[in-house]
Amino acid sequence: MPHLDSQSLHLTAPGQSVTLNQLVFNKGGAPVVYLQAGIHADEYPAMAALERLRVRLEALESAGQLIGEIRLVPIANPAGLTQFIQGHHLGRYEADSGQNFNRGYPVLAADLAQRVAPNLGGSQKENDRVIRSAIVELANRQQAASLNDEHKAQLFRWACDADYVLDVHCDDQALAHLYASKRAQHDLKPLAQALQLDVVMLADDSGGASFDEAAPGLWAAMAQHFPQHPIGVGCRGCTIELRGQQDVSPELAQKDADGLVAFLGHIGALTGIEPIARYDHLTCDLEAVDLLPAPVAGLIHWHAKLGDAIEPGQTVAEIWPLGQMHGETLCTPVLARNAGVLMTRVSRPYARAGETLVKIAGHDPLTWRSGYLLGD
Ligand SMILES: [Zn+2]
Repeated sequence: MPHLDSQSLHLTAPGQSVTLNQLVFNKGGAPVVYLQAGIHADEYPAMAALERLRVRLEALESAGQLIGEIRLVPIANPAGLTQFIQGHHLGRYEADSGQNFNRGYPVLAADLAQRVAPNLGGSQKENDRVIRSAIVELANRQQAASLNDEHKAQLFRWACDADYVLDVHCDDQALAHLYASKRAQHDLKPLAQALQLDVVMLADDSGGASFDEAAPGLWAAMAQHFPQHPIGVGCRGCTIELRGQQDVSPELAQKDADGLVAFLGHIGALTGIEPIARYDHLTCDLEAVDLLPAPVAGLIHWHAKLGDAIEPGQTVAEIWPLGQMHGETLCTPVLARNAGVLMTRVSRPYARAGETLVKIAGHDPLTWRSGYLLGD
């Protein structure tokens, strides 16, 4: 039986309670893998996949196939599951602060460097141990001033010393895709194959202090800060986008859980699992993914669908203006700026001017993409 770790968040209003639940399978095993779903609250396919994974893991535990420690947070944002405004599920941002639920995680590199500097030496194994225990100490000392901060600090505490952090999300309408760090690219490529993801995007610092970069970023920072000392990859983090929000079915959840099990087998957290079958995907830098905005507001008439190969200048959609008083409808084409695969699309058929309509993942880094690389 997994160990249930329940943490009540304290900075709620009087009479309110929020409890975060983590299931820990095979505590003390190695490697340590942390998985969470639905930090953006309305990511239903992600939570469905981890629910199926929980059932699989219980059976695998009974069969004696668990080797690693697997930490499972099937609902990473329980408070967000109640965040409805007049019938609309408001995910992604906390209603009170307006802050993205997946931005603003602790940035502890400077404190960590100061803390570990006197204890680093010539042994990578010992250096990794020193860094890992210092990360745990710093995570435990995090002081939260708001419910939003307390929520993030608790998730970070659970994940910060893991070897793998798999943060499971979904997009609006999308092919299954992955955001990963360049440092962990090699280790996470099998995950893309196991989950049959179509696009893998790489960046070491996308600029938003997102959850999947919080702990891995500390290891990258230490390696950069102390080039004279051998330091391992430490923590491999990624964000998995399980297609679009509407893509919920028992079959898809089972397929995703099976993919996660295959990856857990591949990294030695489970034993007796079939090897991962090959699955081809596009790997690109995050700078090679265009976030194509709507040039004007209006109704969207799509000319391209998910998975289409797009060429620069191609019309991916037309915007039909509303409120025209006479003559033929004057449509505005939405023209692609890069070559690539149409990876995501908005589901609402009405666009605001400037809203990202599609993401097109290509091969070549784009000159207009630098600095802060995430959508919002
Ligand atoms: Zn998300």
